[in-house]
Amino acid sequence: MSNNFDLAILGGGPGGYAAAIRAAQLGARVGLIEQEKVGGTCLNRGCIPTKALIACTNFYERMQKAESLGLSAQNISIDFTKVVARKNEVVAKLVKGLAGLIEKNGIELIKGKGTVLGPDKIEVEKSDGSKLSVVSCKLILATGSHPATLPGVAHDGKKFICSDEALDLASPPSRLDIIGGGVIGLHFAMIYSSLGTAVTIYEAQPEILPGVDDEIVAMTRRLLKRKKVEVKTGTFFNPKETGDVSLICVGRTPNLAGLETLKLKLDGKRVWVNEKMETSLPGIYAVGDLVSLKQFAHVGYEQGMIAAENALGGNRTYNYDCVPYGIYTQPEIAGVGLTEKEARATQPHIKTGKFPFGALGIAQAMGEIEGFVKFVADKNGKILGVHIIGPEATALIGMATLAIKNNLSIEQFGATFQAHPSYPEGMQEAAEAALARALHINN
Ligand code: FAD
Repeated sequence: MSNNFDLAILGGGPGGYAAAIRAAQLGARVGLIEQEKVGGTCLNRGCIPTKALIACTNFYERMQKAESLGLSAQNISIDFTKVVARKNEVVAKLVKGLAGLIEKNGIELIKGKGTVLGPDKIEVEKSDGSKLSVVSCKLILATGSHPATLPGVAHDGKKFICSDEALDLASPPSRLDIIGGGVIGLHFAMIYSSLGTAVTIYEAQPEILPGVDDEIVAMTRRLLKRKKVEVKTGTFFNPKETGDVSLICVGRTPNLAGLETLKLKLDGKRVWVNEKMETSLPGIYAVGDLVSLKQFAHVGYEQGMIAAENALGGNRTYNYDCVPYGIYTQPEIAGVGLTEKEARATQPHIKTGKFPFGALGIAQAMGEIEGFVKFVADKNGKILGVHIIGPEATALIGMATLAIKNNLSIEQFGATFQAHPSYPEGMQEAAEAALARALHINN
């Protein structure tokens, strides 16, 4: 098999494999170079394994509250070894499915560590030490990121761990210090506090969850307190006072190894790209955590597809205006667009509408009454942001993203009626609340 391609892609995570599939759909001969398993951080060490663990711990918690639904459930217990084994099965199944998808699309998967030798040439070192030369007209870099380290703290994988190891502990520690109150830290706080671990979150900034709506953060703090998770904000972690295990979650650093010869323009620690995902070198594109201001799998997908299309003659652009996020706390958190604080900072007159899930029939019926939906709109009613804490928040945010992407107004959103009884009614009601005409609350 020849190793000459129209497009070579370095890294088989969400950014890289989305680029490969889109390029193959467009008829290109594509080589995808991956040193580990396809799916990258998202599938193997990130989005999916955390959610597989959270599915079990959330279910466990709900079972403990079964009495509130009139059920009697005694001696509920959780077998952590089985929970981790199930998580591994879910990951393995998805990795296998993705590998099949890559093959069906006619993409050449080249297993090994790639080093870029020049704009059109990559050397791939296979696991047996042999080397392979890949030549390609165009190149997309999608090497992703790795956990950032904390100065003065030596990551040893046992006492001081990162998110990779936190997914595979032999048993829940009795005490876990989590350094970093961002999204990843919060995911692990939820998982391990549900398992009885005494969790403390250390956050050097004045507040946890940067970029999240203030009222949602305040409610999250109350929920964490109820789960006996201690949150120490404005506090630097002292490694000498560590408990059983300390989990460092202080961000992720782009993977630049193997790209050195290109001498690409950087933006801080990230590779610089323009809105077409082009790097400073012609014919070389970069996507995902390697470049992104927002390190999400869905950002990687979108940037990967845009880069592939542009590398093959397209002219698409990317911007960060409408990127949703989801946090799988219990209840979930999700948001898209400007927060109320961000909107107020840029414009004097805004409209906000808030609707509590407790006023919603379906929420009462399901016993999931905590949280609210908040709409933020400009003075003309154009939706600027939507922020949710509550049941199915990560699913509900999809309709808000669609609305913002298409410049819809609160009037239009409110006029799009929803099935009854359903959680989307809470979205409609919050949009109507911004117009002081929600049905099931006093406006
Ligand atoms: P990666 O997924 O990191 O993939 C890069 C790939 O490139 C890797 O497979 C790597 O092995 C390969 N590679 C690197 N260098 C080379 C080389 N020289 N040669 C060959 N191969 C190479 N995002 C969400 O949107 N939702 C979530 O719920 C979510 N949860 C997360 C939870 C955790 C614990 C973590 C750590 C992350 C989470 N993320 C989540 C973030 C998400 O995983 C990343 O944003 C996403 O994986 C980035 O995709 P990528 O393709 O840019 O990079």
